[in-house]
Amino acid sequence: MLKYRAEIKKLPTYDVIERDWNIKINANECNMNLPPIVEERVMGRLSRLAFNRYPNTETESLAEQLAAAYHVQRRNILLANGSSEILEKMFFCFGGRNHKIVYPQPSFSMYKIYAELSNSISIPFDLDENYCLDAEKFVATVNDNKAHLAVICAPNNPTGTHIPLADIEYIAKNINCAFVVDEAYIEFDGRSAMEIWHKYPHMIIARTFSKAYGLAGARVGYMIADEKITEITGKVFMPYHLNILSAVTADIVYQMRHEYEPRIAMMRSERDRIAEQLKKMSVIQVYPSATNFVLMKYDKAVGLNEYLANIGIGVRSFGDAPRLKNCIRVSAGLREENDTFMKAVKDFVETHTEE
Ligand SMILES: *Cc1c(COP(=O)(O)O)cnc(C)c1O
Repeated sequence: MLKYRAEIKKLPTYDVIERDWNIKINANECNMNLPPIVEERVMGRLSRLAFNRYPNTETESLAEQLAAAYHVQRRNILLANGSSEILEKMFFCFGGRNHKIVYPQPSFSMYKIYAELSNSISIPFDLDENYCLDAEKFVATVNDNKAHLAVICAPNNPTGTHIPLADIEYIAKNINCAFVVDEAYIEFDGRSAMEIWHKYPHMIIARTFSKAYGLAGARVGYMIADEKITEITGKVFMPYHLNILSAVTADIVYQMRHEYEPRIAMMRSERDRIAEQLKKMSVIQVYPSATNFVLMKYDKAVGLNEYLANIGIGVRSFGDAPRLKNCIRVSAGLREENDTFMKAVKDFVETHTEE
């Protein structure tokens, strides 16, 4: 008989049901591939790679570039396979038996899974009825529980909620455990916690290339933290964990990041347009978003999701998930895709509203 570790068997599975959607707006991805000018450079560089060597200069070049851009030292940066790897390792490093981890709810579903994987005690912190984070209560929860790690997602997934920098600073100032700020969507929002990072040596900023930079397939993320944190947490990563293909791709993408500014602006304006259109339907509640997606609530969300799926539009429906009942999250796709989506929602709502 195979004897698995007890905690693995009861783990939930990261539930992504994928199929060949005509319009895929369910995973907060960027619906555009590399800009042609970036693609050309990436392909050129890939063709000259030393596939036979372990990664070295490729990952160094990316890390040094990031350090220079953020005005930090190379040793303040850890690269990873998506910010997922950063998050998992931080839960592993600061969690463990009898260690408590506070994270918001509803928020990124993986926090709970990483807490369980690392054998930590989960302390989910409830966002208020508008999905806002009450910083004072959050601080009290962290301190009353003597937590070892506090995590926030700014702006928050899947609700889209902006968290003011003043609130993040209030938390940083008033807790003394490790404090991870997951900034997966920060490029769509405003000010980053990087502005105050140098004042708080327990603050760890997690970033990704998957969303604004459309590199979800390459799996590249990183964290910025005090050198003592990167030195100690760096020990739990596998050697050469970031492969050269991804490192080189992200290196070029970051060098050419100005090419992404119009796209990011476009995704933001599409997000706002989707929110405005949905708001016109009185049966739908729309939550303010500082990301590249919109969360909506509708009492016929389950039916709407089915209807959309049947016509090939993939959105993220939360079904009966706690605090997200009847909620659907839709990421901002291309303009035409969004038009098709909104037309479909309108059709569904019109035929399902009793006079
Ligand atoms: C998408 C996402 C991530 C991580 O994405 P990676 O592709 O692993 O970099 C992390 N946090 C949140 C909240 C996300 O939505």
